[in-house]
Amino acid sequence: MESREYLDKLIGCIASANQAASVLCVSPNIPGPDKMIFPAGHLFADCLNALLNRFHHADVLSQTYVDGIAFHAAIIVVRMNPYQAKRISLEVETDDFAGYFCDIDVYAPGGKVSRGALREKERPCYLCGGQAKACIFYRRHTPAEILLQIQKRYMEHHNLYRDKGSGMDQYYITLYSLLKPYCNADLNEDSNLFESGLNSFNMVNILVEIEKRYQFEFDDEELDIRGINTIRNLSRLIIKKQQGERHGNES
Ligand SMILES: [Zn+2]
Repeated sequence: MESREYLDKLIGCIASANQAASVLCVSPNIPGPDKMIFPAGHLFADCLNALLNRFHHADVLSQTYVDGIAFHAAIIVVRMNPYQAKRISLEVETDDFAGYFCDIDVYAPGGKVSRGALREKERPCYLCGGQAKACIFYRRHTPAEILLQIQKRYMEHHNLYRDKGSGMDQYYITLYSLLKPYCNADLNEDSNLFESGLNSFNMVNILVEIEKRYQFEFDDEELDIRGINTIRNLSRLIIKKQQGERHGNES
């Protein structure tokens, strides 16, 4: 069964067992085929936290983290009027940084509560600020462009990129998401990767992954580990390699 279909069935079951309560479903709003990609997990956890904080006086009856589907999702049951729950969800989607990049659906016994029911405007597009639905309908942006924008905004918000003047490039974002799982919390473009927790075995795996993604091969002398000990160095090396490949193909 498709993930979305499975999730909807689960929401239906939970909603019919909790007729007197509101049922909410939280999920990060990530475009493209890979819904688990960085920073989906972080946005999901932070948004869930923000939402549960706002319910601290209400009776949260259950929280279900849905496993075995291709994206992050949680179903929350709270003893509260669905319109009030929708109002709180809209506040989180508008005011909370992670909430802005997540969808919080609220289900009443009669079905999903719409934004329109609360006379709320539709959500804005992450890229151009226009109406998100219109941008999707007219395919104004590619999923890759929107994902890059979400990743940039996340990294800027969490101060994971210090060198604001030069602008963050897509290599930095890709490298950060590859390296982050192996390094400690305050990794930035100039952190020494090996002092941040990366070992040379993992570094080799990451270099292989980079070769695959960018479709080139490093020469042995380029793989001097001392020379590529920061994200900045690594991203420069990739740019140099790609320029070299292009030049090689032209001649
Ligand atoms: Zn747009």
